[in-house]
Amino acid sequence: MIIVLSPEATKEQIKHIKDKLESVGLTPHLSKGVERTIIGAIGDEAVLRSVPLEAFPGVEKVLPILKPFKLASREFKNQGSKIKVKDVVFGGEEVVVMAGPCAVENKPVLLEIAKTVKKAGAKVLRGGAFKPRTSPYSFQGLGEEGLKYLRQVGDEVKMPVITEIMDPRDVELVARYADIFQIGARNMQNFTLLKEVGACKKPVVLKRGMMSTLKELLMSAEYILSGGNYEVILCERGIRTFEDATRNTFDVSAMPVIKQLSHLPIIADPSHATGKWGLVEAVALGATAAGADGLLIEVHPRPEEALSDGAQSLLPENFIHLMEEVKKVARAVGRMV
Ligand code: PEP
Ligand code: MN
Repeated sequence: MIIVLSPEATKEQIKHIKDKLESVGLTPHLSKGVERTIIGAIGDEAVLRSVPLEAFPGVEKVLPILKPFKLASREFKNQGSKIKVKDVVFGGEEVVVMAGPCAVENKPVLLEIAKTVKKAGAKVLRGGAFKPRTSPYSFQGLGEEGLKYLRQVGDEVKMPVITEIMDPRDVELVARYADIFQIGARNMQNFTLLKEVGACKKPVVLKRGMMSTLKELLMSAEYILSGGNYEVILCERGIRTFEDATRNTFDVSAMPVIKQLSHLPIIADPSHATGKWGLVEAVALGATAAGADGLLIEVHPRPEEALSDGAQSLLPENFIHLMEEVKKVARAVGRMV
């Protein structure tokens, strides 16, 4: 249910409404828009049948949210959300580029990559310390040691850092080092993990599961939002189809579809979508043209030596070229990089 407050609603009236919602077992979520403040009443709405919310002072109207995802929906919030991470804003005019290695391998290589991607215009440094590998025999990531290198290098080059979290028990640990949590495709429906990061006030990039619909992606975002963490950025990283020319099939329509359904920013990961470095730039340009609010790109100075995802990692010179091209497309669609 959405409770639209009248512009004159006082703080006391808002508190009175919130208290009432809580007393019947619902969770109120306040959203302050430019013109209006609204309260999302989330929970079992059946309990509201006996509460005449329209009669409460300060209430202008009460509307149902028809979509199964409530706080993530455009019905709840009709303007795109802006998510700020240090000086970087997702969902604004800028197409925010996040780049770095698939995995943090050691400090010198990470520093080398960080300097390169920063110089080329990337705003956030990526690097996995906990890697979700298909094989238990593949490199699993450096764990906390990797988180330390990521933080140190991020501070050295003055870039916020993003890293994947796989285990709900690691939320506190990862939160100590990272500016943005990444929830990977394989964990999009790890509901325990979603609830844990929902209870943490830190931005989250939530990747679409490789076999998930956009509705399921939004339902997973709803888990985080309903926990009180409103800083969710969605990520299209390709889905499984019968096509085997690419690692996954990039769903470019995810960008406009999400913008129709949700106020949350949506970014694209052309690296995991294609699995091939030679295809990354073209897909990055397509995503930018379709309205992506950001890009997540894997870069490695010696891809043949990379401990994971070397085949899709861009050499520095190719990343620099991609950035130049992305800038042109961004400008053409009224954005900037
Ligand atoms: C990654 O970003 O390195 C990763 C594992 O991505 P995904 O979860 O999209 O496969
Ligand atoms: Mn990877």
